[in-house]
Amino acid sequence: MENELSRRSFLKSAALASGAGLLGRDLSLGDIPLPTRAPNPKPLAIASANGLAATAKAMEMIAAGSDALDAVIAGVNIVENDPKDMSVGYGGLPNEDGVVELDSSVMHGPTGRGGAVAAIRNIRNPSSVAKVVMERSDHVLLVGEGALRFAVAHGFKEENLLTDEAREVWLKWKENLSTEDDWLPPHDANARDIGERVQKALRLHGTINCDAIDLNGNISGCTTTSGLAFKIPGRVGDSPILGAGLYVDNEVGAAGSTGRGEANLLSCSSVMIVEYMRQGKSPTDACLMACERIARQTKELRLKDDNGRPKFNVNFYAISRAGEHGGASIWSGSQYAINTGEPQSRLVDSAYLYKREK
Ligand code: ASP
Repeated sequence: MENELSRRSFLKSAALASGAGLLGRDLSLGDIPLPTRAPNPKPLAIASANGLAATAKAMEMIAAGSDALDAVIAGVNIVENDPKDMSVGYGGLPNEDGVVELDSSVMHGPTGRGGAVAAIRNIRNPSSVAKVVMERSDHVLLVGEGALRFAVAHGFKEENLLTDEAREVWLKWKENLSTEDDWLPPHDANARDIGERVQKALRLHGTINCDAIDLNGNISGCTTTSGLAFKIPGRVGDSPILGAGLYVDNEVGAAGSTGRGEANLLSCSSVMIVEYMRQGKSPTDACLMACERIARQTKELRLKDDNGRPKFNVNFYAISRAGEHGGASIWSGSQYAINTGEPQSRLVDSAYLYKREK
């Protein structure tokens, strides 16, 4: 009932508020339909393509009665703990100083609460810390040293997150960073082209976003990452910023992102995707609209190819309250993970704005 606020009663209370001088001007909802409660919740979990295990875990917990937020955090914890995924948590690629700094956000639909940490060091599960920020502080976002101290105060264990494998990748980057510094890869006297940047050969981006609907029809989401590899220490991407890397509205749906965080920070696409869905767009169309918006907003020539298209990629994932799911990327070739209760999750192709040649 509480969700069945009719357009008429909303307009009436808006008119009353306006009459009392609270709004000061006439607010109109235009043609935006007001949300209604999904009649039969359709539990599901989706994630970025590295979330096959995460979505399977989340749905296993949801089937057993878990709240969607606990389920998605347990799902992404698997990826955070996996040293083989060098884009998230333990084993994530470090910043330019060789130190791993993690970003994460969570958002809980039914209570409308959220929490986040950014540039946190030495804690392998930033998503779990983000939930404690939400539950045990009056804040939404803690960063750096303060986030670490908050985590330690709540019993999180400090550890070195840099695995030997990630350190080797960082060392290789450092050694090839510039032709004008003293860091060089091993080479013999005849070697040419020493010091050329090898970034293209390295995986520079990666993150997991996971969003789910539970048996009660409640929606939650989480995004967690080690961010851009070899970033300037202190750099924060879109993942821990509610509205950019993640957004949940229990009456509409959820959206999250991976890819070039700087582009998404300038467009706050997750909140836009949720708003597009509120206006009646499908999750896929809403994600595509966000991609189009980023392409239009990208003005700097250094970021555009000869045809004026962004050189970078951003991927979006979304679910609606009715249980639809979708994903879209600026460039073709992306997929996302989906589970609606099966033992194994599957990958689905994302829609895209531009098709990659070759
Ligand atoms: N969006 C993340 C960031 O910019 C990285 C990624 O997803 O690749 O930090």
